[in-house]
Amino acid sequence: MRQNENSVIPSLATIVSLCKRRGFVFPSSEIYDGFAAVYDYGHYGVELVSAVKREWWKVMVQLRDDIVGLDSGIFMSPRIWEASGHVAGFSDPLAECKECNARVRVDHLLITIGIAADEKMSEGEINALFRENKDKVKCPTCGKSNFTEARQFNLLVKSNLGNFTGDINKDPVYLRGETCQGIYVNYKNVLASSRVKVPFGIAQIGKAFRNEITARQFIFRTREFEQMEMQYFVHPDQEMAEYEKLRQARWDYYRDLGFNVSNLRWYEHEKLAFYAKRAYDIEYRFPFGFNELEGVHARGDYDLSQHAKHSGVDLTYLDQQTHERYIPHIIESSVGVGRTFLALMCEAYCEEKIEGGTRVVLRFPPKMAPVKVAVFPLVRNRPEIVEIASNVHKSLRRQFMCEFDDNGNIGKRYRRQDEIGTPYCVTVDYTTIDDRTVTIRDRDSMRQERVSLDQLEACLKTKLAI
Ligand code: ATP
Repeated sequence: MRQNENSVIPSLATIVSLCKRRGFVFPSSEIYDGFAAVYDYGHYGVELVSAVKREWWKVMVQLRDDIVGLDSGIFMSPRIWEASGHVAGFSDPLAECKECNARVRVDHLLITIGIAADEKMSEGEINALFRENKDKVKCPTCGKSNFTEARQFNLLVKSNLGNFTGDINKDPVYLRGETCQGIYVNYKNVLASSRVKVPFGIAQIGKAFRNEITARQFIFRTREFEQMEMQYFVHPDQEMAEYEKLRQARWDYYRDLGFNVSNLRWYEHEKLAFYAKRAYDIEYRFPFGFNELEGVHARGDYDLSQHAKHSGVDLTYLDQQTHERYIPHIIESSVGVGRTFLALMCEAYCEEKIEGGTRVVLRFPPKMAPVKVAVFPLVRNRPEIVEIASNVHKSLRRQFMCEFDDNGNIGKRYRRQDEIGTPYCVTVDYTTIDDRTVTIRDRDSMRQERVSLDQLEACLKTKLAI
């Protein structure tokens, strides 16, 4: 996507402002002073979100013989979250600034002075580490160093679904904290209803909810977000080989989407959960530095064993050929839609100096662009031109997301489309009336070519590779 030297990582403020101004992303509940860590997607945002999901689904499910889809409920039996360990252990260490009352994640504070806290540390351990270093870290809000002790804060979001007692803490039901649990508990249904055999995968896209303590990085970390997860069930002996294949596939996925690979890197978790075999994250160079985009983890037999134990249901797999019975091991790929969206926005963002001004252009690959083609009549006051343009728009919109714009001079209209990343603009002008040709203008090169109206749709399909 980044094709010239003007392609630098934009600041987060630049992206936030473009997203709001052009209707990609709005802060939630703005007219009621906002609602922290939730965002709403506007017209172009919805289109980009669906392109992100469509592309992931295509690669993960449509192009695979061994992976099937699932859409499980957001609400599930609370016993699932006990079995998975989330009720007891899905927590982040939290401290409060005594000066300004800001709540901060202790592991995030420690990382600012180069100390990486282990995710699995107990409250006592993290507190001891924090106590030793409290004076060296500063509150990101007020800059002072005066904190309370740390305590572990559970991230699961509770609800009163089906609870008529008025007490939310009595037998709480949780909004799912990750989508993969729905996959694990449907593993038997999938085996029984489809023709998959180990190794096979189940893919799911859906909302997840977490009571994130600090959420200051726009859609990078939100309390309501969408995940795209694929859990792959393998023979224990094949776990590491399949894991390396998945890692390679996920890296290639981003490269094929047009990411500059120098903005991506692998981060290996050194301290693993006791059951995990290996855990790498793919990190992207966000405006606030390299941070997790996706997790690719080898999880051993932990998930199915836990659910077998807690549900009492046998979740072993019987190999029909070898007659071997075993609990499949799981390797997973897990990525957020919002983080992919933000990474794509940053990757695509370019500022170019042209004609004494600055052109902002989002160089999305055509398949990700929210609008594929914009159609303009050169002028508004020639009915023949307007009519042809309107007909072109009506006909093209059956094929692609298309936009009609007759507002302002043509240069401004091109700039508006550049800013939302529309790959092609079609202009109907005076020549069209004589020879039934129109111009197609390329977003990246800004070059124009004339194409006959009869050829227009086929030509755009080729260019867009649709
Ligand atoms: P982090 O360390 O950044 O909190 P995590 O390790 O808790 O992330 P996972 O539980 O592995 O994240 O979730 C898998 C993926 O889901 C992440 O790689 C990320 O893309 C996405 N994700 C997780 N939490 C959030 C969130 N609060 N907002 C947006 N996306 C998220």
